Amino acid sequence: MTSTVAFIGLGHMGGPMAANLVRAGHRVLGFDLAAQAVATAAAAGVEPAASAADAAAPADAVISMLPAGRHVLALYREQGLLAAARPGTLFIDCSTIDVADARTAHEAAVAAGHRALDAPVSGGVVGAGAATLTFMAGGAEREFSDAAALLDAMGKKAVHCGGAGSGQAAKICNNMILAVSMIGVSEAFVLAESLGLDHQALYDVVSTASGQCWALTVNCPVPGPVPASPANRDYRPGFAASLMAKDLGLAANALRAGGVEAPLGLRAAEMYAAFAGAGGAGLDFSAIVRTLRPQNGTPA
Ligand code: NAD
Repeated sequence: MTSTVAFIGLGHMGGPMAANLVRAGHRVLGFDLAAQAVATAAAAGVEPAASAADAAAPADAVISMLPAGRHVLALYREQGLLAAARPGTLFIDCSTIDVADARTAHEAAVAAGHRALDAPVSGGVVGAGAATLTFMAGGAEREFSDAAALLDAMGKKAVHCGGAGSGQAAKICNNMILAVSMIGVSEAFVLAESLGLDHQALYDVVSTASGQCWALTVNCPVPGPVPASPANRDYRPGFAASLMAKDLGLAANALRAGGVEAPLGLRAAEMYAAFAGAGGAGLDFSAIVRTLRPQNGTPA
């Protein structure tokens, strides 16, 4: 069944996601503060709306893909999105935001007579374009099943993680593992360099041993062993260090709020914030290996 969808936030991720909804036969009304983002989406068949509220008024579902929780909450409340939508509209927020903000957004939507799902994604800009994203969803079972046709049009997999905020929780837990494992793999390569152990030899052993992980076998932080990894193209992302730093900041907020001790996760958050702030923001997150070498030197 096709729907009328309001899509708010037509940036690097939202633009191609909205285009995939159009491709699947849905009517998509789009809004973004940036005129260029609207123009690109319009070329893909998205109907430009004069405001977010105008997009939401006739919609069955409202999807948002915005930078941070404050944007989502301002849109829902101060900018009148919840007030403009018809009662019972399904609000699906795909942005990566604080778990606490996701729960607040969910409560605000329900209090206004609507239904809500948090559904952040992994898969990046490439997955957004190819409709191969993975969605991690938080909300009631019925909302998850009602969103299925829309999520299917934009991704290859959707996992229902639990109640409100659970999608965001799964996303930050995954990315905390990823950051810690990338730093661990990078430290092992730097140690190998200091011991005179060849990158390829280390890779050949670890990729079939107990240290095997995605950070090694898909996104290997040194050039050579995995030809498609960003290290082979001067660390062009991939998954930018700025986004990793953002997600780890959300994980750190959740750790502190819950009184959870996670020394490696917190250290990873500090390391990525420092790396992104010192010029690494636009590089793939695997470039963190550069900061681990003695005096940030080149491999032996
Ligand atoms: P982006 O900056 O390209 O797009 C965000 C868009 O939101 C911009 O076009 C901006 O103009 C628009 N916007 C901001 N406030 C608005 C408002 N009030 N009304 C309408 N439009 C508004 O960012 P992106 O890379 O598309 O990321 C979007 C979200 O997806 C973020 O939460 C990010 O963490 C998450 N994410 C990104 C990636 C990635 O690889 N880029 C991967 C996974 C998740």
